[in-house]
Amino acid sequence: MRLWRRELWRLVLLAGLGLLTGWPLGAPGAGLALGLALCLGYHLYQLRALHRWITHDSQSEPPAAAGLWGDLMDRLYRYQKGQRLTQKRLLDTLRRIQESSEAMRDSVVMLDRHGDLEWWNSAAEQMLGLKPALDRGHHITNLLRDPRFVDYFHRRDYREPLTLASPIDERRVLQFQITLYGDDERLLMARDITRLHRLEEMRRDFVANVSHELRTPLTVLSGYLETYADQAELMPPRLARGLASMQEQTTRMQNLVADLLLLSRLEIDRGGADHAALDMAALLEAVRRDAEALSGGRHVIAVELREPRALVGSEQEIRSALSNLAFNAVRYTPEGSHITLSWRPAAEHGACLEVIDDGEGIDPVHLPRLTERFYRVDKGRSAATGGTGLGLAIVKHVLLRHDARLEIDSRPRQGATFRGLFPAARLTEATAG
Ligand code: ADP
Repeated sequence: MRLWRRELWRLVLLAGLGLLTGWPLGAPGAGLALGLALCLGYHLYQLRALHRWITHDSQSEPPAAAGLWGDLMDRLYRYQKGQRLTQKRLLDTLRRIQESSEAMRDSVVMLDRHGDLEWWNSAAEQMLGLKPALDRGHHITNLLRDPRFVDYFHRRDYREPLTLASPIDERRVLQFQITLYGDDERLLMARDITRLHRLEEMRRDFVANVSHELRTPLTVLSGYLETYADQAELMPPRLARGLASMQEQTTRMQNLVADLLLLSRLEIDRGGADHAALDMAALLEAVRRDAEALSGGRHVIAVELREPRALVGSEQEIRSALSNLAFNAVRYTPEGSHITLSWRPAAEHGACLEVIDDGEGIDPVHLPRLTERFYRVDKGRSAATGGTGLGLAIVKHVLLRHDARLEIDSRPRQGATFRGLFPAARLTEATAG
């Protein structure tokens, strides 16, 4: 305010001086105009100095000026200095982020809201073959064209990572993970898991080979044991008891080997070749009959069919999963329990395959680990029932291969429900004849 008043006084003073000088000469108007022109000249001069300073050398100190102009220039100078400092700090942070991303062995790719490439580190150049000069601004799916990646990218459900071969080197296995951030932008990370993948492959092959190799000696053993068992009445009772126990254990080992081989097959081959619309009524009825045979009349087993659509899948695999659940229900529930095999509609137009029992149920602490291989709630009891410890692991794998997930609801003494939830895409109106 004070500065404004000073400028006003300057104007009045120059105008007054001009008037007073012009008056004795008989030209007060010309004197006034001269005073105002001087004032205007002064302001124009300062404006020019400001313009020059801003356009040519705004980083240096502003030109010396008094009053309002001096204050204006000082403020502009301070503001610019502050801005430069903030900019420098931001650039430093950005440089540090880029340097740390550069140092990472994983690929980091920043995508804008349309999915176009914005920035990536050098690991991404080596793993994904991105070229700085050519690829900036291109859509990511133009460069990573594998249909599984394109599907993963558009699905926008990035909870699980995606494993694929590198687009430039088939032998390298990469794990992709996308994170959404900011204004719908995406951060794509890719990690080289070739070594881990190899190890996993070796483990699977080893289990598959060992199981396969065990099959023949076990068949021979069981064959001889059967022959001897036919002559059991000729043996002393102590030997006959031993023979029965050997037969029982050989059968257990055969079941174990069969389940291990089935699990290996489920893990190794991709499946899908034998998928067809399944006759759910016939399938449920067949499994019910098998379960009834296992139960020997000790349980009440029913079938409930409320979903008219058929499941598209592998008959052999679905039957194996459903049998495992039904046999578990028979084995782990007391006499007189009710067991229901059900095929019914589920949320979001999907359907679910359920095995419900009203037996003793399972303590919730066991539920998260129940599908692990060889995990048992009660070790002694499971062995006695003849289970291999792989039943639920098989169920989980079969469901995964059918885009379904396994849900287990159970509380002690309130029965158990094992539910496979299938998405609508897995169902068809046409039932198999
Ligand atoms: P197992 O060969 O031991 O049956 P599974 O993987 O099929 O192996 O089952 C794991 C464990 O889950 C079993 O040992 C059993 O304790 C428990 N379980 C499975 N189904 C039921 C059920 N219907 N009721 C109670 N417990 C169950």
